[in-house]
Amino acid sequence: MAGDAAMRSGEKGESEGKNGLIAEIEKIYPSGACIQAAVGVPTDRSHVTVVFGPSGAGKSTVLRCIAGLELLSRGRISFNGEIWSDAESGIVVPPQRRLIGYLFQDYALFPHLTVKANVGYGLKGLSRKRYAQRVGEMLRLLQLEDLGDRRPNQLSGGQQQRVALARALVRRPRLLLLDEPLSALDAPMRQSLWWELDKLLREFGIPTVLVTHDWAEALALGDELVVLVAGKVLQVGRPEEVFARPARLEVATAVGVETIAVGRAAKRREGLVELQVGAAHLCAADPGVQADAFYVCIRAEDVTLETGGTSHSSARNHLSGKVVEMTPTDRGVLVVVDAGMRIEALVTRQAVKDLGLRMGDAVIAVVKASAIHLIPHGGSRRFAAHDFS
Ligand code: ADP
Repeated sequence: MAGDAAMRSGEKGESEGKNGLIAEIEKIYPSGACIQAAVGVPTDRSHVTVVFGPSGAGKSTVLRCIAGLELLSRGRISFNGEIWSDAESGIVVPPQRRLIGYLFQDYALFPHLTVKANVGYGLKGLSRKRYAQRVGEMLRLLQLEDLGDRRPNQLSGGQQQRVALARALVRRPRLLLLDEPLSALDAPMRQSLWWELDKLLREFGIPTVLVTHDWAEALALGDELVVLVAGKVLQVGRPEEVFARPARLEVATAVGVETIAVGRAAKRREGLVELQVGAAHLCAADPGVQADAFYVCIRAEDVTLETGGTSHSSARNHLSGKVVEMTPTDRGVLVVVDAGMRIEALVTRQAVKDLGLRMGDAVIAVVKASAIHLIPHGGSRRFAAHDFS
């Protein structure tokens, strides 16, 4: 079973007592779907572990197993040394005793209850005064004080999300589980709420596992990223590192690398690899791995476009071509250039205007060698000195 994430949270030589969440999960559904994942979260500091992957990867299953809503087929889940689930011994601590805050994808607010009642729903056994204090405190912290008497259908999507978060936090959970917390919102709203959610999670300092299929969200909110594809963990690391250096083709695809093409290594020298990609030649930083062919990965943000026939950039790669597609996105305009290979560039709307860019225009796509990430295609082995020629 993949154990990277769990190992990471435990690798600081701590005794098991304070190891945070260590979830080694194997879940086999009667349908045959099998999800294997190891997810860890330290509990001694504010930390968000993001389980990231496409739809159907097994992300919700991981959260449901951690919450105790799903039994494990194999594996074990412990929290600061306390065993929550153990398939072998049959131990299962019921969900309510785990003291977890769970924020569901669709918020699952009760439509007939006010904001106040929704927030206080999980609070049991408190005096009226303590109940009112606790709910009041949450409303204040999440800036919902003026909305306490409204019902969910009288709130914006962002406000509903804050109510759901308040409800998840009101019992002062030991662990927070967020299932696609912003997916119910439209793109511009989502982006503005990332920063708000990030600030809140840091303020509360509750260890969090967040599930998302949106790589920009993972990048904005995660301290550690666990990439789950088709029920298997393919890579674990800091989000920026995984995005810049995906270890496998499936990860590159999942994290939205815009240009992925197969290139043949033609020559290696001075820390660089020269590649033939379609009819284009590229020069990339040498990854130190011997392979005849690589997946060439280039992020659209790392490609600049120039017009006017000659480039003045000192970057290694200048690819002459024609604009064949222009797609406005919420990040800017995605411009596809046919330069003997298909290469995508992300250009700001202002730059599109300044360059007067149109379909069919001749452009030069400029890319630094260091911005090209190579993943060995097929078998690979580490370099020996005589491999360089
Ligand atoms: P994600 O959250 O990444 O979209 P899920 O955890 O919902 O993925 O699903 C992972 C796989 O497990 C899918 O193939 C799905 O069909 C299957 N699955 C999820 N829940 C159940 C269930 N209750 N019964 C049978 N199969 C399920």
